[in-house]
Order: sequence, then C-alpha cells, then structure tokens
Amino acid sequence: GGSFAHPVAVAIEVAGNGPSLPRASGIADSFFDTDGQITKRPIRALALSALAPLPGQTLWDIGGGSGSIGIEWCLSHPSLSAISIEPRPDRAARIRANADRYGLDRLQVVEGAAPAALADLPPSDAVFIGGGLSGALMQDLTTRLAPGTRLVAHAVTLESEALLTAWSAQLGGDLLRIDLAEAAPLGPKRGWSPARPIVQWRVVL
Ligand code: SAH
Repeated sequence: GGSFAHPVAVAIEVAGNGPSLPRASGIADSFFDTDGQITKRPIRALALSALAPLPGQTLWDIGGGSGSIGIEWCLSHPSLSAISIEPRPDRAARIRANADRYGLDRLQVVEGAAPAALADLPPSDAVFIGGGLSGALMQDLTTRLAPGTRLVAHAVTLESEALLTAWSAQLGGDLLRIDLAEAAPLGPKRGWSPARPIVQWRVVL
C-alpha cells in the first residue's frame, strides 16, 4: 500500500509511549511534580468547573503551589493562558518546570506575594485564590478586577472560611462546602478517611 495505508498505526505513533492526558478536568496528581502543596484531583476538577474557562481567556492563579490549577486551565484549550503567582522561589521554579513539561509557554510565573505582586499584571478573565487569602487581598481584587471577572476562592482554615463568608454576604455568589472521604485501611478492614472540608466561593464580580 501507499503511505496512508495504516492510519491507525500512525495515530498510535503520534500518541507515543508516555501517559495520555485525559480531556476532562481533574487529571491525576501524578501529572505534576509537587512538594505536597497541590490542589488534589477531585477538588481541582471542582475548581476548574467553577472557573469555567472560555476560549482566549486568561487566569490569575494566586497561590500557585505546584501550578496544577494554572496548568490545567491552559491544557483545557490551546487559546488559554495563565499567570501563576507564588512567593516561594522553590515553588515558583517547580511551577515553571511543571508547565514546561507540557510545553506551556502560555503560563507565566510571577514570583511574589499577592496583593503586591498583582500590581503590574495584564487583566484577567478569571481568578483563582488557592493561597494568600486575606482581607487586604480581597480589598485589592474588588477594586482591581473588572466587572464580569469570575472569582473562585478555596478556604481550608476557619479564618479564611470566615473571610469568604463575610465577603460573600457583601458580593453574593455561591458557597460550596466540599466534604470528601477516601477509603483507607482500618486495621484488617477499611474505613472512610475524611479530608478537611474545603469551602469554595464562586462569584462573578
Ligand atoms: N493550588 C495549588 C496549591 C496551593 S498551596 C496547586 O494546585 O498546586 C498555597 C500556596 O499559596 C503556597 O504555595 C503558598 O506559598 C502560596 N501563598 C501564600 N501566601 C501567598 C500570597 N500572599 N500570594 C501568593 N501566594 C501565596
């Protein structure tokens, strides 16, 4: 046959031998190098769903950690871009390396702490707060962000949950409490091992 005789074989060759990237949000944590600071797969899926990326849009990922939120945002469509804001140099470098593994020059890493580090950034369509939540940050975001910007914040401490409760009373939006448990060994049997509850606030400014 000619050069197009084996299209199936060609497709397999393109896919290569490495792990394939699923198309749905919430890819395995193992796709990211991490020091443990990472939004884990099921929670990340809920974050991406709330962030609801549309073609051409830009995300600020505040509290980049391992970069998983910004990276998955970028992976969900080739027209998307993200800026990851992370104060710790070791984590900023890890985010860069994780993004480079997927060829994502559409993800920019800003090494610095919010809100100060937000001052010179190009505007965003959506903002995720996975770290650095404070009254000062919220105050800054509400004056800096354009109306229509989607804001999604995750809180795990009582203090940050209280902050989201107060700000949601002012600005509206939806609060979602995420209570997950994983089966784990319990003596010779298994039991549910609960994760700390996470409160997600989603608001369109
Ligand atoms: N969503 C991340 C995990 C976030 S962990 C992921 O999936 O990988 C929270 C991160 O917020 C930590 O790395 C911490 O260094 C960072 N952080 C703390 N204070 C911050 C601030 N003021 N501005 C930006 N990031 C901050």
